[in-house]
Amino acid sequence: MEITKNNDYEILIEDMGNDGEGIGHIEGMTVFVKDTVMGDRAVVKIIKLKKNIAYGRLVELLSPSPYRVAPVCDNARRCGGCTMQHISYEKQLEYKWNKVANCLKRIGGIAEPEKIMEKPPYGMTHPYNYRNKAQFPIGRDKDGNVVIGFYAGRTHTIIDTDSCAIGASVNDEIVRAVRTFIEQHHISTYDEKTGKGLMRHLLIRVGFATDDIMVCLVINGEKIPDIEKLTEKLVRIDGMKSICININKEKTNRILGDKCVTIWGQDYITDYIGSIRYRISPLSFYQVNPVQTKVLYEKALSYAELSGGEVVWDMYCGIGTISLFLSQKAKQVYGVEIVPQAVADARKNAEINGAKNVTFYTGRAEEIVPAVYKEDGEAAHADVVVVDPPRKGCDEVLLDTLVRMAPGRIVYVSCEPATLARDIKVLSKSGYCIKKAAMIDQFCHSTHIETVVMLEKL
Ligand code: SAH
Repeated sequence: MEITKNNDYEILIEDMGNDGEGIGHIEGMTVFVKDTVMGDRAVVKIIKLKKNIAYGRLVELLSPSPYRVAPVCDNARRCGGCTMQHISYEKQLEYKWNKVANCLKRIGGIAEPEKIMEKPPYGMTHPYNYRNKAQFPIGRDKDGNVVIGFYAGRTHTIIDTDSCAIGASVNDEIVRAVRTFIEQHHISTYDEKTGKGLMRHLLIRVGFATDDIMVCLVINGEKIPDIEKLTEKLVRIDGMKSICININKEKTNRILGDKCVTIWGQDYITDYIGSIRYRISPLSFYQVNPVQTKVLYEKALSYAELSGGEVVWDMYCGIGTISLFLSQKAKQVYGVEIVPQAVADARKNAEINGAKNVTFYTGRAEEIVPAVYKEDGEAAHADVVVVDPPRKGCDEVLLDTLVRMAPGRIVYVSCEPATLARDIKVLSKSGYCIKKAAMIDQFCHSTHIETVVMLEKL
């Protein structure tokens, strides 16, 4: 039987795509169906047909999946953030664990990843209100009302949001204050199409261990008129430590521009993970889920198997978070990071924690590390290397240099299992063998996956 467009078919949803859509098969053809869940049996109408894949629309749910749950947020279906809120948390964890196993097998060429992956996965006891950072787009609806909230899935339509189940609870009060301020003072809001209008984004960061709050207003201009009226309100919120403006005049999807101006309080907030204190600037990367980050860093530290005498490299080190964790048990740690402001934070963090055995380099890991390796000093040697790259994974030149540095262990922290598996394949061909892996859920209710893996030199 051929499948044809605009016809209805019965389907069993077996898997889930990156945007949370259900995936099933009809006559061997892979079909993506929005609003369905693994385990659903449904009638779908084929709305788009390509060579090997098709897209269907849910027509009738014949028998709902046992994993369906009522989402906590009213906006869950429209909001592009939590694409899995309607799936039980246990099933979400299982899905993510299986996805890591599949990537390691299919892309990484690992024969039996199940045998080296820790089970159960590390999930949260209370998978809500976990995010320490929120970036709300600001705009106006078609009636001219100010909207601050989230983008609807796959679009840039802003859904005005009063409350978000995964964000810090103090966000709601700040969003309300900013919305009221923009309305009362008739301040313009940014329009992506024309590139005109002032207020672009509201960034909020909260230190979960300290209750410190940072509010950063991203604007398409230099100044916000009457800003003191807003500041007056915000400083009354308990824990407010920093209010700043970020200037972004580019017509781009990038949220933050390069320049920040503090208009009240400090230039940073402070937080702790375990006993280590971190200073965080608006532009620096900081893990978004502090509860699970502690689990992640402890796992990375335990996979590093340090005994005190090791030279360790921390690639893609951000503000030095993992570097400082490692420095507690290593002789010397070297960190590499591309964002200068993050390196400045990293150095300050080493200082405030009294860590004297950490050195940071600013630049691309794939340029710095080969250069240092050539110099052949102590830093050219590594007993253990930790990498924590962005989603696109490690640069080939870096992997190549790592192999030549020949550390005994490589600990790979990854936020994208597909590139993790790709890089593991490269390392496997060069004498490294995957020994352990753990899926630590940092992004509950979204399809993002965090994994930490340990590879040993054969
Ligand atoms: N390990 C840190 C940061 C991980 S996020 C933590 O846990 O907090 C990845 C970091 O890699 C970001 O800080 C980003 O700025 C940095 N980065 C991206 N590309 C890079 C490159 N080519 N070389 C070095 N750092 C890079």
